[in-house]
Amino acid sequence: MTDFLPGGAPRLTRLCDFVRYYADVAPSREAVVFGETRLDYAAFDGAIDRCARALQAAGVRPGDRIAMLTTPRPEFAVVLMATQRIGGIWVGLNTRYRLPELRHIVDDCAPTVLISVCRTPEGRLFEADLEAIAADARGLKAVVTLPESTPRVGQSFEDFLSAGDGHDLAPAAAGPDDPTVIVYTSGTTGRPKGALLAHRNLIYCYEQVSRSFAGKEQLRDGLRILCNLPPNHIGCISEMLGNAIIRGGAVVFAEQFDPAGAFDLIARERITLFGGVPVMLEAMFADPAFANADLSSVKAIGWGGAPAARDLVRRMKELGVHLFTNYGLTEGGAVVSATGPDDDIDDLAETVGHPDSSGDRRIVDDEGRDAAYGQTGEIWLKGPGVFLGYWNNPAATGVAMAPGGWLRTGDIAQARADGAWVLSGRKADMFKSGGFNVYPREIELVLEEHPDIAYAAVIAIADPRYFEVGAAFIAAKPGRSPAPTEIDAFLRGRLANYKVPKTIQVRSALPMLPIGKVDKHALRGELKTNEDGQ
Ligand code: AMP
Repeated sequence: MTDFLPGGAPRLTRLCDFVRYYADVAPSREAVVFGETRLDYAAFDGAIDRCARALQAAGVRPGDRIAMLTTPRPEFAVVLMATQRIGGIWVGLNTRYRLPELRHIVDDCAPTVLISVCRTPEGRLFEADLEAIAADARGLKAVVTLPESTPRVGQSFEDFLSAGDGHDLAPAAAGPDDPTVIVYTSGTTGRPKGALLAHRNLIYCYEQVSRSFAGKEQLRDGLRILCNLPPNHIGCISEMLGNAIIRGGAVVFAEQFDPAGAFDLIARERITLFGGVPVMLEAMFADPAFANADLSSVKAIGWGGAPAARDLVRRMKELGVHLFTNYGLTEGGAVVSATGPDDDIDDLAETVGHPDSSGDRRIVDDEGRDAAYGQTGEIWLKGPGVFLGYWNNPAATGVAMAPGGWLRTGDIAQARADGAWVLSGRKADMFKSGGFNVYPREIELVLEEHPDIAYAAVIAIADPRYFEVGAAFIAAKPGRSPAPTEIDAFLRGRLANYKVPKTIQVRSALPMLPIGKVDKHALRGELKTNEDGQ
């Protein structure tokens, strides 16, 4: 007999098991929508098995990595779940990454198969990058390109799938602690690190989101979720795709985010739940298309990753739909704290809701002791949302984990009298631009590869649109004076666009601390003085 989770979904181990379950109990229910493509649960399940056969026929063994460079589209869901069925590990690559970033990740996780789009809707072509990667990737057995392209590199997805037809599928058994996905996050040390997630990490998010819906069953019946975040992001995998599939709902893919296109899809596909990072919602509510948007199907809007401005929350509230927000992180669970079904504008704008009670949560002071009641401290987490560690990087895992198995999140918070968490900052100098994490050190390292730059410092500055953006300060080598426009172009060839600082100042030297590090505090002070003086 099926055991059920709080929130009504069956208690199963892997995301792919939910597809099989709904294929049995509701085979003709719609599962996946993308343009003209529509798959019901039976067809979705069949597509996953076909892909699993192809992966095994290509030589993928349990524990092997399957890397995917893709926009949000059905093949992402099919390949991810096929990888789960045969015990592999799926790795997402962002289509905004430039070649050096892609190379680093492929080098680090050494995939057996690389599956990629050939172009993005914005027109970026990947053939040259794929050729360069394929030329020196160790252990890579196949490069596969998705439809809507004429591949010169590797084989087409359809040929890849056909090669597996007739292969006897040997499904892998899996437990909740087995690894399933690597999500690359940038790090304070500069190079992106792979956070290794177990099946339980992906299911955990569903359970947390269910708390936001508690007692409002009408919100989750007939769920249709708009999925328009990059698939390498935990929010796309867990909060969008995972949430829809675990509840037996439909996931409607949009390859790129644009406000008018999102409104159009919401109306056409009768979306019941959408959301993302606040910068996306800001853009939607500020767009002229909002005035005529048909949002009559929408029952709930959710956001996370960064705080939403009170005015945005107020405007969304006027729609009369259920609003929810949450706090989470790749390494500790996509949703760790969540607002409740009856929270008001103040709760939604000021807090990230109540922490989940199934795992252990602490707010600790600098000595690792529980912070006194009402004091701020760092959030430490233990329990089912916490990741397995960084891929191939025990040193980084050791830094992230405190004694006793606690994950140090780096996030500073305080508990309100009613127990809701209020976030107030981060320990490291990571900042959030448009919902993406940006680590200044990663950008500084790239800047310091420039032949005219001696050293560089990047700091975050507040931005009305993206929440935070980078500001770069450059110390030029003696006798050199690189132009900011030229440095900008240099960065754009090497880093995803959201990491590129919005302002670049070139100087002969930067203020230094006695220990020889750039005095970022002084730079922040300078920016503030300039702002105040304007
Ligand atoms: P990621 O691993 O990309 O999901 O980013 C996680 C980080 O985003 C957290 O460690 C926080 O610093 C930040 N974050 C997540 N949710 C929120 C939120 N609701 N408000 C403010 N910051 C958030």
